[in-house]
Amino acid sequence: DRLIQGTTLHEEEAVDRAIRPKLLSDYTGQPHVVGQMNIFLEAARRRGEALDHLLIFGPPGLGKTTLANIVANEMNVSIKTTSGPVLEKAGDLAALLTNLEPNDVLFIDEIHRLSPVVEEVLYPAMEDYQLDIMIGEGPAARSIKLDLPPFTLIGATTRAGSLTSPLRDRFGIVQRLEFYTVDELTKIVQRSAAHLGMELVPTGAKEIARRSRGTPRISNRLLRRVRDYAEVKAAGNIDDAVAAKALDMLDVDDAGFDFMDRKLLLALIDKFDGGPVGLDNLAAAIGEVKETIEDVLEPYLIQQGFLQRTPRGRLATQRAYLHFGLDRPAS
Ligand code: ADP
Repeated sequence: DRLIQGTTLHEEEAVDRAIRPKLLSDYTGQPHVVGQMNIFLEAARRRGEALDHLLIFGPPGLGKTTLANIVANEMNVSIKTTSGPVLEKAGDLAALLTNLEPNDVLFIDEIHRLSPVVEEVLYPAMEDYQLDIMIGEGPAARSIKLDLPPFTLIGATTRAGSLTSPLRDRFGIVQRLEFYTVDELTKIVQRSAAHLGMELVPTGAKEIARRSRGTPRISNRLLRRVRDYAEVKAAGNIDDAVAAKALDMLDVDDAGFDFMDRKLLLALIDKFDGGPVGLDNLAAAIGEVKETIEDVLEPYLIQQGFLQRTPRGRLATQRAYLHFGLDRPAS
């Protein structure tokens, strides 16, 4: 199993429920988002209205689902969760919408993957709380209109660019999540460790944070693996040296890259002379699907300055060469 991947693993779900923050005040980092959401939530609560529709975008594992659940919790309403690819037919969405109570949250993960027919149903629902749907087929088909209770749609997406503009325009609030700083991740690691009843000295927490690719989901995942290591090899006590050894063993390097990151950068350097190379060729060279490269691997490599996306393709930067102790050839 890869440590760095887009989704929550099945085994993680129970632990995850315990350590997932439930209130905005427990949501570490993202000061800009938290500051705004505090105000929007307070205003909606005072008016007794549903919160405006909210679009959250950012790479996997940065807290989109967590934020959606916090919104419902802070508004004291229920949340129904689904995802773009799951909603195949207009009727699938209609069934969810007609089951909402006033001011409830409907959370659609991967909203950029909604089918056009389902999206069409969403527009009037978002705009006027109206359900406008065709039932039956052929000459017997007819359209029915239903009033819906006011609700908040929360959409999450890893790629804001893939949303159609009519859909994007219907969100009153748009929040973009950024990669977390080492200090923020250190706090998250410490909080999770406390929930798991673990002994973790601050230097140990920081070492895990430093190698987490700016991503809380990865911090929590590494924390659990480091705990396994420490229980067997270090009598459970985790400082930076123990954490570093455990992470080395897990093949997470000093920059927090796993073998897939290294494979991508090394392919770029060795097979394509540092680029530029197109996404198709890169994907073929490392045997990974394009979407994973774009959504999961690249954002952090770009943010950290190891890779550039240019109109001519992907480029390895000086930093990428340095990471492997190589010199960049003069071009
Ligand atoms: P996404 O939906 O963006 O893929 P999640 O919301 O599932 O990410 O977050 C992954 C995990 O990271 C969650 O289980 C949660 O425990 C943790 N997490 C995310 N954001 C935060 C945060 N701001 N503070 C503390 N923990 C967080």
